[in-house]
Amino acid sequence: MAHNADMEEDSRLLHTGKAGDIQREIDQLAAQLSRKKGALEDLFRTCEHQWGEIRSVPYETGGYTAPGDPPGTMGVDWRPPVYVPRQSHSRWVRTCQVCGYTQVTQRSTTAVTETKVPQF
Ligand SMILES: [Zn+2]
Repeated sequence: MAHNADMEEDSRLLHTGKAGDIQREIDQLAAQLSRKKGALEDLFRTCEHQWGEIRSVPYETGGYTAPGDPPGTMGVDWRPPVYVPRQSHSRWVRTCQVCGYTQVTQRSTTAVTETKVPQF
């Protein structure tokens, strides 16, 4: 690990001319990217999120036939075409009205509500 970092450091020292210019620009952009990511994380952490309405955005997978091995393929592990059934998945999205942070989840719990049923 440390060895790789040392080698990267070395190659930077070796670059001159155009290569050196590009490497310096890459380093500046990398630093800028790191600062921006930090700023975004700070925003997410410090905002007192006020969530807007939860939107349901389900998605589907499957509904196609996986081709399997081409005809003429030899061997005992030959795989035939397999139909992958269409499946619907639940997904929800909410967005903070203050900072715009958008969260996506596929996790859910089942709400159980108790209804009073009179007994005579
Ligand atoms: Zn927020």
